[in-house]
Amino acid sequence: MTDQKALYARLKPELDAAFTAVMESMSFTEGPQVQQLADRIQAYLPVAVAFPCAADGSTLRVALQALALPAGAAVILPAFGDAALAETVLRLGLTPVFADVQADTFTLDPEAVAQAITPTTRAILPVHLFGQCAAMEPLLALTRKYDLKVVEDNSQAFGAVYSWPGGQRQKAGTMGHCSISSFFPAKPLAGQGEGAAICTNEANVAAKVRHFFEAGEGTAPLDALQAAMLTVKLKYTDAYHAGKIPVAQYYDTAFAQVPGVQPPVCAAYSSHVYQQYVISVAPKLRDGLQAHLRDNYIPSMVYYPQPLHLQEAFGHLGYKQGDFPVAEKLSQSLLSLPMHSELKQDQLAYICGQVQDFMQKQV
Ligand SMILES: *Cc1c(COP(=O)(O)O)cnc(C)c1O
Repeated sequence: MTDQKALYARLKPELDAAFTAVMESMSFTEGPQVQQLADRIQAYLPVAVAFPCAADGSTLRVALQALALPAGAAVILPAFGDAALAETVLRLGLTPVFADVQADTFTLDPEAVAQAITPTTRAILPVHLFGQCAAMEPLLALTRKYDLKVVEDNSQAFGAVYSWPGGQRQKAGTMGHCSISSFFPAKPLAGQGEGAAICTNEANVAAKVRHFFEAGEGTAPLDALQAAMLTVKLKYTDAYHAGKIPVAQYYDTAFAQVPGVQPPVCAAYSSHVYQQYVISVAPKLRDGLQAHLRDNYIPSMVYYPQPLHLQEAFGHLGYKQGDFPVAEKLSQSLLSLPMHSELKQDQLAYICGQVQDFMQKQV
């Protein structure tokens, strides 16, 4: 799905020098590297404060705690996505409330959010999914109207740019009260293990997060080796994303000729960093297509096979089949294809040819 080895080879001299500097300093938990990464993230996004941290799934917990929501408060999040976010919301004694996503971009649907808001709603959690920004302008209009907090999940779209209706541009992860970005391997900014950042423009949120760090509550700062690595990789984030555009264009052009395959829709309000290249096919064909690709040595992934409201872990919330029809359909029709800057024309031709072969046999 990605080619971490080739990406390492490209940056090897610079990465190795950064690692060596850390090793020679013998300073693995403190030292300048973590602050340097924080400074670089702040300048890149830009955002007032970035806290690099050792993630272990705790970044959302710290971000939500920093917003000091009352016990039991409802937090609206997309019904389509990874279960970890809703689990964290539950574990904090808050109430996850799901809302359906947009059929074209798969991100939180502002109209569905408007319907889901009640007097107990205190926050929304838009996820910038697969490399594209959620529809932030209408979502933020709602949060201003109802005085809600916004935590952006920027784990899949680090580097994506949102365009406001007036034409101003702003990076994902800088528009809410705070944002979380995972630097897990194979994320848009990829480390070698658990790593993440919490970013905010709000002084009071920053003060709370800093307090959690200093008190050792909830999350640890990032280690120096990861920070040194991410500082190098951050410099090349835009170039890496740019390297995926011709790959996406190749796929888009090829699939335009294949009846039954819908290439990803690029929203006018967002750039796409192609964390995933996701096609959609008829639900009855998706698993067969994946099996056909597997038989021909092509990896593919299903994100996400089950919408959150139908998962057992959230059964007690009382949702049922049919509540979020878009999320339900997407869980049966989407397939992620290999996507990275190192894919060559012959590999792409082979992948597209296999998709076409399978689809042609279906009609
Ligand atoms: C990977 C990912 C996470 C999890 O991040 P961790 O580093 O494992 O805490 C959260 N949200 C989204 C959308 C992700 O893609």
